[in-house]
Amino acid sequence: MTLQQNLDRAATLALPGLAVIDGKLVPAQSGKTFPNTTPRDGTVLNQVAECGPADIDAAVKAARASFEDGRWRGKPPREKKKIMFRLAELMERDFEDLALMETLDMGKPIRDSRGFDIASAVNSIRWYAEALDKVYGEVATTPAERLSFIVREPLGVVGAIIPWNFPLHMACWKVGPALAAGNSIVLKPAEQSPLTALKLGELALEAGVPPGVLNVVPGFGESAGQALARHMDVDLIAFTGSGEVGRKLMVYAGESNLKRVSLELGGKSPQIVFADAENLDEAADAAAWGIFFNQGEVCNAASRLLVEASIKDAFVEKVLARAGAYMPGDPLDPASTAGALVTEGQMKRVLSYVDVAQKEGAKLSLGGKRVRAESGGYYVEPTVFDNVLNTHTLAREEVFGPVLGVIAFKDEDEAVRIANDTVYGLASGLWTANISRAHRVSRKLRSGLVWINGWDACDITVPFGGAKQSGFGRDRSLHALEKYTELKGISVTYKV
Ligand code: ADP
Repeated sequence: MTLQQNLDRAATLALPGLAVIDGKLVPAQSGKTFPNTTPRDGTVLNQVAECGPADIDAAVKAARASFEDGRWRGKPPREKKKIMFRLAELMERDFEDLALMETLDMGKPIRDSRGFDIASAVNSIRWYAEALDKVYGEVATTPAERLSFIVREPLGVVGAIIPWNFPLHMACWKVGPALAAGNSIVLKPAEQSPLTALKLGELALEAGVPPGVLNVVPGFGESAGQALARHMDVDLIAFTGSGEVGRKLMVYAGESNLKRVSLELGGKSPQIVFADAENLDEAADAAAWGIFFNQGEVCNAASRLLVEASIKDAFVEKVLARAGAYMPGDPLDPASTAGALVTEGQMKRVLSYVDVAQKEGAKLSLGGKRVRAESGGYYVEPTVFDNVLNTHTLAREEVFGPVLGVIAFKDEDEAVRIANDTVYGLASGLWTANISRAHRVSRKLRSGLVWINGWDACDITVPFGGAKQSGFGRDRSLHALEKYTELKGISVTYKV
């Protein structure tokens, strides 16, 4: 579709603005709404229900009732599977609308919404539907007069709090396994990007997910998010977002009902390029893509580029040559490879890191400025800093924008030391043709994911999550089911 076709279709989209609670589309009990804006040009897209504690309570009650009467968890596995497959089909039916909503809501290029976000979201629902009846319990080794078996049971009411950088994709990383495991869910999308989650709630009802099983409650973090995380009848908060909010969630859990918390937080992920890499052009492609994809608003963005000193200058040239390919354009233009940052505040924050990096003595090799200001939207050009030290703010704090810092290292030990010298531990990557080095270094890196000779080699089959202050708990793969279930051991004693 051309830019004009996208604009025409976007103009006729019916944008969802009501919460989905207990199978009904409802306004906030207070009647309040908030303006949902698009970072594409700063205009208001629609008004969205501003849910608060009363709405959260209604959603949790509906979820609990649906869990207790077994209308979802009690269904035969094949029926649950059929309904989840139907949901995936409906998401495909409405694929174009979902892609446009995602792009309008948070500013990402339409080619990524189509090629990545919505496609991955559909895949998550389908993958967990397929898995649903293939995970069995265990029988323990017990004395002859006893049979002990171990079953996994759904937790109950899952509160999912998700971020704005991949709104539907992140929602489905949680909704897929939580539903497959038999839970009931209250999903709180980020206030910056509520549209596709609301649409997901509507499609789930159409697919036959019973009322109350998937509730979607838009609202602000401090009110709706906090109310959900402090609720006495929520069993788990599954969260993706900032470390700052992650910390609060643990406090809320401690101060309320000791609900479980799983946290997928930020990162300052290092991509290490050794001089013996087989293909430095591919490594340079990955260095640029690793930081500029999704405008750098990626928790596992390759924001620290560690390059062996002997090739550093030549390698940086290669990266600079590729960075221009990520100059922001209209997110609705199918040719754009980068779009707008999610809000004006986020843009200002990113630009403030550019200032700090310059003040601290890093060398600005490319970019550093707002572009396309005349559109009214929030665009920042691809930005590269050379001569960054790992002590600089740019190397320590998550920027969540298209800003790369290049750090030189002299040998393998130093590379590992710098890579691990961070509070984060989400992902890391390395480029080398030396197989021993590849294995050795990958085992020394403290992160939940390590990519060798490729960046973001992501797949639903491999667990995603971090070490250290990048959080705990895993999304994706069968391991994700662990956090949405509880182990129960049942022992039968009988006469031999
Ligand atoms: P970012 O900094 O990337 O915007 P946040 O961690 O602030 O990410 O937001 C991620 C999600 O957490 C959003 O859905 C947001 O509304 C929610 N959130 C923010 N503050 C709180 C809070 N105090 N309690 C619960 N949820 C919150």
